[in-house]
Amino acid sequence: MKNEEIIEDYPNYIINTYTRQPIAISHGKGIKVWDNDGKEYLDFFAGIAVSNLGHAHPNILNALKEQSEKIIHCSNIYYNENQLALAKLLNKLIPNSRIFFANSGAEANEGAIKLARKYTGKTEIISTKNSFHGRTLATITATGQSKYSEPFKPLPAGFKHVTFGEINELKNAINDNTAAIILEVVQGEGGIVVSDENYFKEVEKICKENNVLLILDEVQTGFGRCGKMFASEIFNLKPDITTVAKAIAGGFPMGAIIANKKVAKGFKPGDHGTTFGGSPLACAVAIASIETIINDDLLENSEKLGKYFRTHLLTLKDRYSFIKNVRGYGLMIGIELYIKCSNIVNKAREKGFLINCTADNVIRLVPPLIIKKEEIDLLIESLNEIFLDIQSE
Ligand SMILES: *Cc1c(COP(=O)(O)O)cnc(C)c1O
Repeated sequence: MKNEEIIEDYPNYIINTYTRQPIAISHGKGIKVWDNDGKEYLDFFAGIAVSNLGHAHPNILNALKEQSEKIIHCSNIYYNENQLALAKLLNKLIPNSRIFFANSGAEANEGAIKLARKYTGKTEIISTKNSFHGRTLATITATGQSKYSEPFKPLPAGFKHVTFGEINELKNAINDNTAAIILEVVQGEGGIVVSDENYFKEVEKICKENNVLLILDEVQTGFGRCGKMFASEIFNLKPDITTVAKAIAGGFPMGAIIANKKVAKGFKPGDHGTTFGGSPLACAVAIASIETIINDDLLENSEKLGKYFRTHLLTLKDRYSFIKNVRGYGLMIGIELYIKCSNIVNKAREKGFLINCTADNVIRLVPPLIIKKEEIDLLIESLNEIFLDIQSE
């Protein structure tokens, strides 16, 4: 089928929940993808920071093939060796942790909120304005953007929002009934919004002083995206709970709650569960993905090429007055503009680049961690042409 045929027939069968780009993706290889009309793109979006090894990576394909021939699913009614192996691997990355396997970021956060309430016996969860934590009722309530939650009232009780980066607001929001604060290290959907080491260190300290759990939502920042395995390592943070999903299994759906072993004891048999979570297949693919990130030095590539990328984007900022700011860590990069960016995304796509616009005016660049300098150069060149057009309009 051609792009247009697919796009035209969608509304006849699919619930209309997404604002989609007008192409149908057919296949991919490395950092390239092709649409149904055969047009080739360099993928700087990686399916929302998911495909960290790019597309059709041989290690992912091997894991999928080998494990799917053994067994795909067995439920959590039985033990499974792959789950243990993946948990051991995650335990090396975040020592003294215990893992619960889920299927998505929202589900991991939902479970983390349950665990925080169960462990502390308290109910209130503090999150930050402009954050994003998922689409279930509890996680849209934790999400600090009312557009996601307003239409779905009544919302669960026990959630409060404070300004990201404002330590005094957080201090004032804590009371005897505060169970946890949930934070992104870099606000992803919110526009690649960063804060400084001082803020995060203070948050950690305040949590300790008040017996409040610190939950870091690393669903978007995890697995090398920010130049470290986890963004918490940038500031040497030791959260009580880390939630992950997106890139954990190289594109295969999976999420996880990584709790320190003391907090993990809050859950007793029967307290939480899921049918698909931690299937033998998902675990095998996650192991292959994480081991490849480690063995192929992709953390270093993310850090180095992220710097290279930002340096070159900053030269564009000097040239074009509508660029407000370039920020991020590793290969999680935002270009904040004084203008809306959806048109820039369209122009880039026509030139053969997949990029994303979030928070209306922030270009989000989250390419696979296997990206090379030359590919970054090509995007910079194209962005320069697009920006030149805009400036002369
Ligand atoms: C994407 C995202 C989520 C939600 O993950 P899903 O897998 O879509 O449920 C939660 N938190 C953050 C920070 C995210 O980027």
